[in-house]
Amino acid sequence: MRKKMVAGNWKMCGSRCNVDALADAIKKGTKSFSTKIDIVIFPSFVHLQLIENILVDTLVSWGGQNLYLGAQGAFTGEISGPMLVDYGCQYVLVGHSERRIIFHEDLKLIAAKFKTALEYGLKPVLCIGETLAEREQQKTEKVITEQLESVIELAGIDAFRHAVIAYEPVWAIGTGLTATPEQAQEVHAFIRKLLAKHHPDIANTICILYGGSVKADNAAGLFAMPDIDGGLVGGASLEAKSFLAICENALEKAAGSV
Ligand code: PEP
Repeated sequence: MRKKMVAGNWKMCGSRCNVDALADAIKKGTKSFSTKIDIVIFPSFVHLQLIENILVDTLVSWGGQNLYLGAQGAFTGEISGPMLVDYGCQYVLVGHSERRIIFHEDLKLIAAKFKTALEYGLKPVLCIGETLAEREQQKTEKVITEQLESVIELAGIDAFRHAVIAYEPVWAIGTGLTATPEQAQEVHAFIRKLLAKHHPDIANTICILYGGSVKADNAAGLFAMPDIDGGLVGGASLEAKSFLAICENALEKAAGSV
């Protein structure tokens, strides 16, 4: 049985003061949670120390929103895997659509970042998904295949034993438009089928999150789908009440599965 996960991507949001309050509320709100679900927060790099101070020794893990290749060097503005590990990160987002589209990260760079994350002991959360135009042109499976195969080719299928995948249709991110549970399930099942061609066991055990306007009121329907193992949450993770409600939905599904 796969464990459910809820991850909060705080993007370039927050100040010292409200990040402190949000992390503290999440710490308090998850105190009574069991270890049946994984909860992960992705704050801005500058807030990692704050998060480490507040969330150390809790059930909540944290990670970086990005990383660059190598351990150190002349790469102004970048951050490395070992730097993230130094601040207690266990995870890192790789290939978020905002990185692919706004910062022009291509398939090759994303595959290299995925491999780099693993080399430094970080669990990459590989974000994949199609744009609205691609969906309308029935290219969803083609796009997902390219995004996954480019990583498998460089890092190898075994690397996915230590990774998480987040299916995030670009048209649903930050738009309020959520994929229906059936639409998301269809793509999640396709992702598992693709992975199964390489390694059936990894296809069955890997955690595949859905991301794209997940809210407290749509999480239950999404998390009930057989191939959806939780959510990567943007906007709704910036408020403790809605993030905790989404976590509770995952917890209910986890409790129902025993
Ligand atoms: C995201 O940024 O990964 C995301 C899913 O955002 P939102 O929940 O706001 O759509």
